[in-house]
Amino acid sequence: MIEVRMFPCLRDNYGFLAHDADSGETAAIDTPDADEILRQADSAGWTITQIWNTHWHPDHAGGNDKLKAATGALITAPEGEGSKIPAADRRVSEGDRVALGKSEAVVIGTGGHTLGHIAYHLPADGVAFVGDTLFALGCGRLFEGTPAQMWDSLSKLRALPADTTVYCAHEYTQANARFALSVDPANTALQDYAAEVDRKRANDEPTVPTTIGREQAANPFLRADAADLQAAIGMAGAAPAEVFAEVRQRKDNF
Ligand code: ZN
Ligand code: FE
Repeated sequence: MIEVRMFPCLRDNYGFLAHDADSGETAAIDTPDADEILRQADSAGWTITQIWNTHWHPDHAGGNDKLKAATGALITAPEGEGSKIPAADRRVSEGDRVALGKSEAVVIGTGGHTLGHIAYHLPADGVAFVGDTLFALGCGRLFEGTPAQMWDSLSKLRALPADTTVYCAHEYTQANARFALSVDPANTALQDYAAEVDRKRANDEPTVPTTIGREQAANPFLRADAADLQAAIGMAGAAPAEVFAEVRQRKDNF
C-alpha cells in the first residue's frame, strides 16, 4: 500500500508524494514547485525516485528539470503531451501500467483540459491522481480539447469505484461549490457538501482529497446525464455531451 503526502504549493496547487514503504520508492505526482517538493520529501524521510506527470502545464511539469537534477528521478509523462514535456524518460497512455514498488498505477486517458492529459489510478490502493481533469465539485477548463472529449474523460473517472480517494491538483472547491449550487440548487448532497466546504475553508483546512462517490452525487460536471440536472438548466433529454458543454460554458462565465 502507498502512503500519500499532500501539501499546498504555489498559489492554489497541491503537491503530492506517493511512497511505497517496502521498496522505498517515492513518486512526485507533478512538479509544481521543485524546492517545496524536495523539502516535503526530506521532512518525510523519503527519497524521490520517480516523477509522474499528468499534463504539460508549467504548474504541473515546470519543476521537472530541477527535481530530476536534484534526485535523478525517472520521469513518466503522457505520450499525448509529446515534446511539451521534453525530459520524459517514459511516455505512457491509456491502459499502460506504472509501478511504484509493488503498487501499480493504471493510466487513464483524460484529454480535454490539455489534449494529452492523463490520470493515474492505483486500483489496489483505491487512489487516483487526476491532475486538472476532475476537481472537487468542478472540472478543468477546456484549453485544448472539446466538450465531448472532456465528458468522455470525466465519464471514465466517474466509473471508478465510489470509495476511490481522488487527489485533485488545485484547491478550487469553494468557488466550484458556489457555481454548482447555481445550476443544481435542489441537490441535497451538494448542499451538504457545500456547507462542509465552507466550514473547512473557514478553518483553513483542505477540501482535497475527495472521493468518486461524493463527486458522482454532487459534482454538476459528472451529472450531465442526470434528468434532474438537465431539467434544472432547461435541457431535459439533451445529449449528455451537450449538457456538459452548457454547464462548462456557464462556469466559464460565472
Ligand atoms: Zn493545468
Ligand atoms: Fe493546474
